[in-house]
Amino acid sequence: MGVATAAGGRPVLSPISGGIVAHVADSAPDAVETAIAAATAAFRDWRRVPAPRRGEFVRLIGEELRAAKPALGRLVTLEVGKVPSEGEGEVQEMIDICDFAVGLSRQLQGLAIPSERPDHRMMEQWHPAGVVAVITAFNFPVAVFSWNAALALVCGDPVIWKPSEKAPLTALAVHALVARAAARFGGVPDGLVQVVTGGAEVGGILVDDPRIAVVSATGSTRMGRVVGERVARRFGRSILELGGNNASIVTPSADLDLAVRAIAFGAMGTAGQRCTTLRRLFVHESVRDALVPRLARVYGAVTVGSPLDDGVLVGPLIDAAAGEAMALALSAARDLGATVAGGEAVTVPGFPDACYRRPALVEMPEQAGPMLQETFAPILYVLPYRDLDQAIALQNGVPQGLSSSIFTTDLREAEAFLSAAGSDCGIANVNMGTSGAEIGGAFGGEKETGGGRESGSDAWKGYMRRMTSAINYGRDLPLAQGVRFDIV
Ligand code: NAD
Repeated sequence: MGVATAAGGRPVLSPISGGIVAHVADSAPDAVETAIAAATAAFRDWRRVPAPRRGEFVRLIGEELRAAKPALGRLVTLEVGKVPSEGEGEVQEMIDICDFAVGLSRQLQGLAIPSERPDHRMMEQWHPAGVVAVITAFNFPVAVFSWNAALALVCGDPVIWKPSEKAPLTALAVHALVARAAARFGGVPDGLVQVVTGGAEVGGILVDDPRIAVVSATGSTRMGRVVGERVARRFGRSILELGGNNASIVTPSADLDLAVRAIAFGAMGTAGQRCTTLRRLFVHESVRDALVPRLARVYGAVTVGSPLDDGVLVGPLIDAAAGEAMALALSAARDLGATVAGGEAVTVPGFPDACYRRPALVEMPEQAGPMLQETFAPILYVLPYRDLDQAIALQNGVPQGLSSSIFTTDLREAEAFLSAAGSDCGIANVNMGTSGAEIGGAFGGEKETGGGRESGSDAWKGYMRRMTSAINYGRDLPLAQGVRFDIV
């Protein structure tokens, strides 16, 4: 168990105040090298620990997280600006995946496969893959680590975590909780779970090292393009969880009361800084007048401010650069003829250096320009449509493929949306928003979202290697496909 850091330090800002709250040193290259060597050594022992016993370690991590939930949730709020229920919700997600992984530790099953050869048996086993590097984004500073680590640990893999350079404090706190669980477990190998801190350069050392079997990287598509290519060059395995540009379709039969609530949370929750944030809304022209003015009222009424204050639903953007990106996207939309409501800076007393923005509702003349990109801020582009095929084509007509949803009470429309000819995303929901996934399902998306899957379902297979074995318990040597090779 280790934290590899060097002297000096990179400032960590709280988006709530815009001020420096700590300095955290980047890990030096030789410290990262030491961490990789320690993890490689830990793998030799951990892979031989029975999986249900590995599950016991994860169960203890879950217990530590339960006890620390209020404090860790608060730290998430302070470090990345989430409102308290979302900060604690992120910790709850960690607890949930630990519970899931404990059960999984008794279910890492392979298949028994009928053999075409007499007196033969075939089977498949899943073995630990090796050291897993987990590179995480700022916006889910702790949950994404646990999606990966809880599975990797029960699968028999050591973990080296490189958190976002914008959110290292929560990572160090989680690491301390994991160390407590390790002490209670009574002897996990040194180097089983380690944290290295820093930015792209530190991450790059993990990405390029052939001793790292799996690189699970969450962040922008720009990052994933670099990481995916570098891992592939050394034939490593990557799990890429990248940007989204998520859409909802509101059909003529939709329950609009429900849709308004879901759209508001999807588009404005976490100040638009979720990979699954709702960014594009396609509204049937027959319900446009009933829906869009209602949404505009909700947008006008929502409280923007410090997440430490009661009643605030929209906290700050992570930094000034995020505010600039939002302003640029809105200006590009205006140039295309869009009508923009909201988006202006909000001054929060006492925090002049922070970046607060009112969420923006943007009526677009067509799907173009900034609507084709992910701007990591609360901007919702709205476009009317006439028939469902057109709406689905618009929804799928962007490079990203993470999350999608439809609001309808028409079974045909719902099923068409979920069919092979429907949404092309990794996540497709009915009568709910695009964000707020549960841990039980595999999480991830297609196209420029990277194709990776994490969390529930059979995502665990990404952290293991598959071994296919044929066993001959007879006295002859029949060859497959009837091939003969008779030697004298
Ligand atoms: P980012 O791409 O700037 O950074 C993400 C992480 O990658 C950080 O730890 C960073 O240090 C590291 N990194 C960057 N370049 C690297 C390189 N060349 N080599 C190794 N590591 C490198 O993203 P961000 O601003 O922190 O997060 C926001 C982005 O993350 C959004 O695009 C969002 O959609 C995406 N995201 C995706 C998911 C998902 O599951 N699909 C979840 C959360 C966030």
